[in-house]
Amino acid sequence: MRFLFIWWISLPIYLFSQSIELLCKKFDSLNTLIRDQKIDTAIAKNIFRNLITSIKEQTKHLPYASEWIFPIQGYSPKYIGGRNGEGYIPQDYDYFTGNNHKAHPAHDIFIYDLNQDCLDDVKKQYVNVLSITEGVVVACAKEWDTTSTLRGGIYVWIYSPSEEALFYYAHLNTIQVDIGTVVHSGKVLGTVGRTGLNAYKKRSPTHLHLSMLSVKDNLPVPQNPYAKLCRAKCVP
Ligand SMILES: [Zn+2]
Repeated sequence: MRFLFIWWISLPIYLFSQSIELLCKKFDSLNTLIRDQKIDTAIAKNIFRNLITSIKEQTKHLPYASEWIFPIQGYSPKYIGGRNGEGYIPQDYDYFTGNNHKAHPAHDIFIYDLNQDCLDDVKKQYVNVLSITEGVVVACAKEWDTTSTLRGGIYVWIYSPSEEALFYYAHLNTIQVDIGTVVHSGKVLGTVGRTGLNAYKKRSPTHLHLSMLSVKDNLPVPQNPYAKLCRAKCVP
């Protein structure tokens, strides 16, 4: 089954141009194989390079805004964990090690949720996760259950052509987009949640885990978005 999957995501790339939806479905399949450590790294890198090249080509004309949108509605950069963004630790991170990855090439952004019900304690409402930039949903997980050992829980990966980067939004409660959905900056992706092996635990305050991976030489490399997040436009 796994090999059929690998055949499906790799073979036809060279043969004809494919729709963006199909490319994104293939990217999602690849991302899942990498996440679950079910694909050889060299093969995965090869397929990644080919897919991302095609996705880049197909999305290069997407309109984009000059300003970033802060990814949690009603919140601001002061809710980013760690003093001055010190929660960002990219050393030894490798996307291709999947769920087993080391380090934390990410910022955790916390919401007011003392009773851990995913509702904002003041507004008594779920809190929207917004797309920072324009882009296309290249991978997502819509479900997660408490017996799963997956760390990301319910997540969305977006490829942004203007940034030439992948953005990863994890631990969501629900998501409102699908693989292949084209989004503008500020688009509601879902709501902040507590899904994922560690995010679900009592000791973890409710937060969004946000990563940015620049695509350099067609491979993903962690990029610290802290400075740009601090200048992002906040949506009330
Ligand atoms: Zn995190």
